[in-house]
Amino acid sequence: MKVLILASGSEGNCIYLEEDGSGLIIDAGISRKRILNGLAEHGISKENVEAVFITHEHTDHTRGLRILCKYENYPVYASEGTIEKLTYQVPRGDFRSVFIGTRINGFEISSLPLPHDAVEPVAYVIEGGGSRMLVATDLGYVTEGVLREISRCQAVIFESNHDIEMLNNGPYPEDLKARILSRWGHLSNKQCAAALKQAHRGGLNLVILAHLSLENNSPELALAETAKALPKSIRVVTASRRTPTGPFLI
Ligand SMILES: [Zn+2]
Ligand SMILES: [Zn+2]
Repeated sequence: MKVLILASGSEGNCIYLEEDGSGLIIDAGISRKRILNGLAEHGISKENVEAVFITHEHTDHTRGLRILCKYENYPVYASEGTIEKLTYQVPRGDFRSVFIGTRINGFEISSLPLPHDAVEPVAYVIEGGGSRMLVATDLGYVTEGVLREISRCQAVIFESNHDIEMLNNGPYPEDLKARILSRWGHLSNKQCAAALKQAHRGGLNLVILAHLSLENNSPELALAETAKALPKSIRVVTASRRTPTGPFLI
């Protein structure tokens, strides 16, 4: 399976996965133009895309969806709650509910619930080409379900949003700090590293740290925290906020 991250963070999220020429997009938080240009730069045509999966309705995950659905006939998979939230904003969306083991060409996709301040946010587990990958960002704490999936995957795209000290000493208003730190907010570097340390098994070989905060984190801090928690055999990288990261073969 090939993985390309087009953007990651509070300004926009979009991930592309490909197996055997078939592609999936996870989240459309950047414009259609940026999505299609980003794919084209890597030799990927929009015809390769079979479907779009949305994790939750926040704009950093859905900003480009309305225009994308206006011009492309991609089916859009999401939880029922997310679909309900998006129906009016995306009138041309061909929405479909995700169920356990949704099959699209060479992929099998499942969702699992995440604790975050959206209607029905989910993580996705994608199997393809004999590999299994977890995509989990925008979660306030690590659930048993997420730990279980980390232990079963070869690759994870996992949130490492903030350094707690930087957030506490930073410029955000107190109510926003409280929201980020709450059980319905975002994962800190420490929470991310602790979960990976606890749950990783022999099969895990790639960790992509994602949804890093611009104001309250740095790629160096995030990388240092998780790298020291894991064996050297596991590759750890950070996803850039605005430029493509990858592709990785998993
Ligand atoms: Zn987000
Ligand atoms: Zn969110």
